[in-house]
Amino acid sequence: MSDPSPREPGSNSGAGRFDTLCVHAGQSPEPVTGAITTPIFQTSTYVQDGIGRHRGYEYARLQNPTREASEANIAALEGGRHGIAFSSGLAAIECLAKAVAGGGHIISEENTYGGTTRMFTQVLARLGIDVTLVDTRDLAAVESAIRPQTRLIHLETPSNPLMRIADIEAIAGVARARGVLLCVDSTFASPSNQRPLALGADVAMHSTTKYLSGHSDVLGGILIVNDDSLAEELHFVRKSTGPLPGPMDSWLTLRGTRTLHLRMERHNRNGMLIAEFLQSHPAVRAVHYPGLPAHPRHDLARLQMTGFSGMLSAELSQADARRMVERTRLFRLAESLGGVESMISIPSVMTHASVPEEARLRMGITNGLVRFSVGIEDGRDLVEDLEQALRTS
Ligand SMILES: *Cc1c(COP(=O)(O)O)cnc(C)c1O
Repeated sequence: MSDPSPREPGSNSGAGRFDTLCVHAGQSPEPVTGAITTPIFQTSTYVQDGIGRHRGYEYARLQNPTREASEANIAALEGGRHGIAFSSGLAAIECLAKAVAGGGHIISEENTYGGTTRMFTQVLARLGIDVTLVDTRDLAAVESAIRPQTRLIHLETPSNPLMRIADIEAIAGVARARGVLLCVDSTFASPSNQRPLALGADVAMHSTTKYLSGHSDVLGGILIVNDDSLAEELHFVRKSTGPLPGPMDSWLTLRGTRTLHLRMERHNRNGMLIAEFLQSHPAVRAVHYPGLPAHPRHDLARLQMTGFSGMLSAELSQADARRMVERTRLFRLAESLGGVESMISIPSVMTHASVPEEARLRMGITNGLVRFSVGIEDGRDLVEDLEQALRTS
């Protein structure tokens, strides 16, 4: 591309504190009409002024102004220089693996989003990428899994669905010393609550399907990096393989991130409320929520997060779990998370059904584990909904 794109990352990133960046970063009035919102540039190609003379836009797999605005917005929220968006969260992880780990070795947290583990072990393995799954809470285990061929460490913190917390800064130190890239799937936290790049990670990753777009109406993913040559490599692999989000999805994501700060305040507050309610309920055996002092890594979570989001899980008997998820009225039985509406699921038979039973049970993903994505409704209604769903009479 000869001309610099007018919306190249950073060029319109806006200035200000986090809440202001949510509203303004990556966006400026559309130059022809002054439209205050970034238009949906629903086009596959751009007319060129002459042979080899274009305005920085050639073809939709290479450039699109709506996508670039959304990328610049999210990059600013993560405090990163480059945002590279994808058609899904898994496509983002796959692109990173292809860009940096071809023929090499990846270390991944064992308790990730089920689809991530499935891709690592059943798809990337076919491409000659070797994967070791470890409990990344154990720094020594991470360190001893590193081989000469190790290219990437993939963390997910908080993890899905057990809300394990990995020490980003400590693992970043190990990764840097050994010349290995560190990627943090920060989907459960959102940039409102956790900034992996500031803690030393090389890549912050999100399924934008979740909190970033926030309204359960779009599928997408993003990688945010500071290193220019890594960004170039990711752009190269993305344009050569094509897993891009369309203009409409990019626009929906941008519409979502403009209110991220407000939504996350309520997700954080309602998450804590529901965690405390469940913790005090006699049918509940354990609650996994990093915001609770009872969480084994609460102190670390408080150091690397500023809020704990609306994601939590709770351990019940299998019968109580099944009865509850079928009786809730506001909490909808669904697989996704991070939307404005509350959702409830049973990971063992839904999101993590593809994880072998033996591995699932060893980690603690029992048949009675219930996952909650607490939305932004009135918290009192949510508590009442769970109360009635748990009532035995
Ligand atoms: C949903 C999710 C993914 C996968 O993202 P898709 O957009 O569904 O491809 C990866 N990691 C986490 C933590 C997720 O919640």
